[in-house]
Amino acid sequence: MNEAERYHEIDLPFYRDEIAPLLPPRVLDFHVHIWRREHWREKPWETDADGGKYMVVQEEYPPEALDADLGRMFPDRPCEAVCFGFPSPAVDLARTNADTARLGATPGRYPLLIAGKGVQSPEELRRQVREGGFFGYKVLLNWYGDDYGDIAVSDMLGPAEMALAEELGLLVLLHVPRAGRLADPVVQAGVRDYARRYPGARFVLAHCGRCYLPDEMREAVGAVADLENVYLDTAMVMDPTVLQIALEAVGPQRVVYATDLPIAAMRGRRVYVMDHWMDVVLPGYPPSGPYRVAAPAVGGHDIRATFMVYEIILALHRAAERVGLSAGEREGLFYHNGAALLAGVRGLG
Ligand SMILES: [Zn+2]
Repeated sequence: MNEAERYHEIDLPFYRDEIAPLLPPRVLDFHVHIWRREHWREKPWETDADGGKYMVVQEEYPPEALDADLGRMFPDRPCEAVCFGFPSPAVDLARTNADTARLGATPGRYPLLIAGKGVQSPEELRRQVREGGFFGYKVLLNWYGDDYGDIAVSDMLGPAEMALAEELGLLVLLHVPRAGRLADPVVQAGVRDYARRYPGARFVLAHCGRCYLPDEMREAVGAVADLENVYLDTAMVMDPTVLQIALEAVGPQRVVYATDLPIAAMRGRRVYVMDHWMDVVLPGYPPSGPYRVAAPAVGGHDIRATFMVYEIILALHRAAERVGLSAGEREGLFYHNGAALLAGVRGLG
């Protein structure tokens, strides 16, 4: 089956029958990466460095590719997106941030600046946010691959970055560090400390605080439940129980639909086995260590699988159903919660 056949025979019917009925008239994806090949200072997957092959799917994902993917995945409705570059030390941040800023001129595209502790001087940070029309930060992951080490939240964001976020009501999209994820007491303390000290900033924890397993979410979410300025994005979270626990703890308004495109353009599903997760995908994607497993063909046929984007939507819908959310609250997950976050940023332009 070639790409076009797969799209027309598997993806599109599944979208029409199972996905489209769950969605509001427009959708907002709160976590999308864009980058161009010329933004790389070095290509981690071409080195033997530890973690160099972690989670990279392609050399570039320019805005045109995003438009094409969203057009294919949501052929009957607009999909808006919060966009930012590839937040890695291997990338020329000035170039990728400038490119993302240009995207802000496109309706329905909301740029975040890749920033982090000391990445820009305070004056430069303010200038870039203002002139680029950025809605906030995607916090730089200042390490390679999956080596999250002993980094604390205060190592990723300093007082200068937070003071500006407080002043302008910026969004702070944070991929929490450390092997324990949001269940780690050091991470929890860091998030709580900043959320309370900077109540005007709005924190969005990427990947639900990196909790892909129900037990992780159960241990983690209590730490942020009472923090009204902490939100959870659903990027790459495909387990309904994880999302159910999140919704029960923080309520329907502080969860936002998000995918992590282009990763979520892979066909397959993130699953968990015992106490770890992996992506089960169709053959042909680049390897990513134990995190990505290509399902072998059975009887000459690949497994039936569709875009992970749809799996995230389904998981979120199932969680919302179990929690008993109203139709309006469900629409909020896919659009209005995120739109309200964007609308709360002050002093743009
Ligand atoms: Zn991401």
